[in-house]
Amino acid sequence: MVSPRPSQAALARSASTSVLHRQLNKTYPRAVSAQGAFLYDASGKDYLDASGGAAVCALGHRHPRVIDAIKAQLDTLAYAHSAFFTSDAAEELGDWLVRRAPLGFGRVMFVSGGSEAVEAAVKLARQVHYERGDTGRVHFIARRQSYHGNTLGALALGHHPARRAPYEGLIGRFPVSHIAPCYAYRHQRPDETAEVYGLRAAAELEAEILRIGPEQVAAFVAETVSGSTIGAAPPAPGYLAHIRRICDKYGVFLILDEVMSGMGRTGHLFACAEDDVSPDFIAVAKGIGAGYQPIGAMLARDEHVQTITKGSGALAHGHTYMAHAAACAGALAVQRVIEDEDLLPRVRASGARLRTMLSERLGDHPNVGDIRGRGLFLAMEFVADRESKTPLNPRRKFAATLKDVAMENGLICYPASGTADGVSGDHVLLAPPFNISEDELTLLVERLGRSIEESLAQTT
Ligand code: PLP
Repeated sequence: MVSPRPSQAALARSASTSVLHRQLNKTYPRAVSAQGAFLYDASGKDYLDASGGAAVCALGHRHPRVIDAIKAQLDTLAYAHSAFFTSDAAEELGDWLVRRAPLGFGRVMFVSGGSEAVEAAVKLARQVHYERGDTGRVHFIARRQSYHGNTLGALALGHHPARRAPYEGLIGRFPVSHIAPCYAYRHQRPDETAEVYGLRAAAELEAEILRIGPEQVAAFVAETVSGSTIGAAPPAPGYLAHIRRICDKYGVFLILDEVMSGMGRTGHLFACAEDDVSPDFIAVAKGIGAGYQPIGAMLARDEHVQTITKGSGALAHGHTYMAHAAACAGALAVQRVIEDEDLLPRVRASGARLRTMLSERLGDHPNVGDIRGRGLFLAMEFVADRESKTPLNPRRKFAATLKDVAMENGLICYPASGTADGVSGDHVLLAPPFNISEDELTLLVERLGRSIEESLAQTT
């Protein structure tokens, strides 16, 4: 018997039979095409991509210059193993990045994504200590409510209770301890200025280094602007500069994870430039390839690479797809578009505009506790009570509901919830394309406002 033709709506939401998705009991709409800030499913429904998936799609979808660059690269050389060759695409992208990186960053390792970039930074930091003969430095300090990726090392560094839980027995052996994040909305005291809070939050690092023993600490790892677990929480003024001073005092390396916040998302190519702080290693990923190709990068200060060059002469780390030529060509085209179309000032201006629009539409809402972020990396935190900042009851599952309701309303945003330090909070992260238009910003705020109100009503 011939089965009846599935309806467009059924096609759009047909369950996966072979592909493993994170939510196993859920059916996902099939994305079939995209253009600019919109994705379309098989029924033709449009979704305004207000979070670039997860802060990935910096240029929106189907930018012709990026597509042409990737096609041209595939036509000449898709892949050559980095143990045998380098390529024009990798060299040009490397030069492009180091010329724009904080001073002293001369070398880049290209990998396939954010977790790999973080792992590369962690391993290189350790290798540099090791080759210097400082072999006792194996301990890493990171922050609670942070996320650094899902591979085992990155997961150990991060502090995402739900993602860690099944693996505690494995990652519990990784020598890492956690201090508080820089999270002004929850941790700045009413009698403190932002600067005083920043110094107090950074002082936790010094106390932790002294507790562990400075001769054992390899590096401190932090997101420059906290992304998925807190929601676009920027460092307090002076926080990162003080962190840098503490790291220098004890010979501890500073690794900044800019996988989400880097490559222009905050309005600066490297987010730490806004804080005038230069780390030892930087991990970037999402925005570098902007979703056109899977690529991440780890940038290292020259002096650290020199240590290894003069020592063993070889990185004790690598992957098959390192410096993939087509991925590098795509990323180079993305970065050229950002510069040629003058998108960094536009990110700052559109970010300020979106923030104002969010404040006008939702700033007085009794369940919106905070609107924060930098550039086009913004978040709203939801509360049951603004005065006491009491979080929404986790049993309401507000973040999960908002994700689904927003999808129904044709909006992709990034809601999340998390528990740390006894506080469970819900927030939504926004990271639209750098070239989003005024009309699209209006639509974003309209669909988001409606989705938030419907989700609150559904989860009382
Ligand atoms: N670091 C940060 C700050 C992230 O937000 C993420 C992903 O969300 C990662 C690392 C891991 O990146 P990936 O998922 O590409 O491995």
